[in-house]
Amino acid sequence: MRFVSKLPDVGTTIFTVMSQLAAEHGAINLSQGFPDFPCAPALLDAASSAMQAGHNQYAPMAGLPALRQALAAKLLASQQIPVDPETEITITAGATQALFTAIAAVLHAGDEAILLDPSYDSYAPAIRAQGATPVRLNLSAPTFAIDWAAVEAAVTPRTRLIIVNNPNNPATSVFSNSDLDALAAIVEHHDLLVLADEVYEHLVYDGITHRSVLSHPALRARSFAVYSFGKTFHATGWKVGYCVAPPLLSAEFRKVHQFLVFSVNTPMQHALAHHLAQPVHWQQLSAFYQAKRDRLANGLTAVGFRLQPSQSTYFQLADFTTIRDDLSDVEFARWLTLEHGVASIPVSAFYGDGRDDRLVRFCFAKRDDTIDSALARLAKLAN
Ligand code: PMP
Ligand code: GLN
Repeated sequence: MRFVSKLPDVGTTIFTVMSQLAAEHGAINLSQGFPDFPCAPALLDAASSAMQAGHNQYAPMAGLPALRQALAAKLLASQQIPVDPETEITITAGATQALFTAIAAVLHAGDEAILLDPSYDSYAPAIRAQGATPVRLNLSAPTFAIDWAAVEAAVTPRTRLIIVNNPNNPATSVFSNSDLDALAAIVEHHDLLVLADEVYEHLVYDGITHRSVLSHPALRARSFAVYSFGKTFHATGWKVGYCVAPPLLSAEFRKVHQFLVFSVNTPMQHALAHHLAQPVHWQQLSAFYQAKRDRLANGLTAVGFRLQPSQSTYFQLADFTTIRDDLSDVEFARWLTLEHGVASIPVSAFYGDGRDDRLVRFCFAKRDDTIDSALARLAKLAN
């Protein structure tokens, strides 16, 4: 059989590779981003009750109305953003599906989409699967600041979309108001759309505020904003997320969504709607994760890593050259897993050109005893 791959160079994601390596070698897995602690018992009870109550058939294509209404109420109460749950919110099978769906809905073959690297691994393949081209610009440690003049210079007559990830995995940087203004000026001037991956919206630290594209009127009019309950409710395995976009963009999004998944699993949507109606949970998330960040960061510093400040997400970037300056980041992550029993992610995996700044990413969405055990293993590095 002759088969011409659409994605010939795509292998297994670095998250799967490192999690498998950790499992094979009995390493503590601080690589792939997921909590190792349970989600709220009330959320589990709500899911079980929803199934027992018979909510086991197809949900409406755009999502359970009660869940969309709860999300609209949350956006209004917490950020004063009015959103029509009927025409502007679509429930998706995780953020990954929302990202793919928005990309597929917008890009025609031959179009270009601008990415800012380091970027999440699903964006570029999703663009290429449409016959479109990712145009990738590198941001640099330690600040990963965006040079908006360079972004504008990358716009061509074929550009249709700019993808931003704010807060950023793995850079942990967060947009300022002037970043939003600069993005808005470019997309208005060149008549472009924005896909804003805001899955870490509630995981920001040290008093920093996350500013959504939804809070900026010019961006609100031309953006898909994507979220994940996996991050906010410690339930990455549920794979439920949502996309907020103006009616015209949501209508196009739903044209693809209805043939990609049609609708998202029903009992989990009931459980999430019920849970969102309870006293708010996300307000405690920053303090909860900031303590874990500090616990991990103090320990990593003590064993000799040089840390980039983690402003957001549940990741910590660490420069390892004081420990091994003879290894690439991929080699170092492998060495640390095999020889010291702690798995991390090499940051070069987030760059299209494989740029290696000798940084690895550790996940701190872990029980305190998991973090302590990892640090105990790494203590040998200090000797
Ligand atoms: N975007 C970013 C930046 C992520 O880090 C992740 C997952 N960690 C996703 C999207 C995917 O989210 P989901 O698991 O809901 O598909
Ligand atoms: N988003 C997670 C991370 O950054 C990984 C999710 C996945 O494995 N696809 O670690």
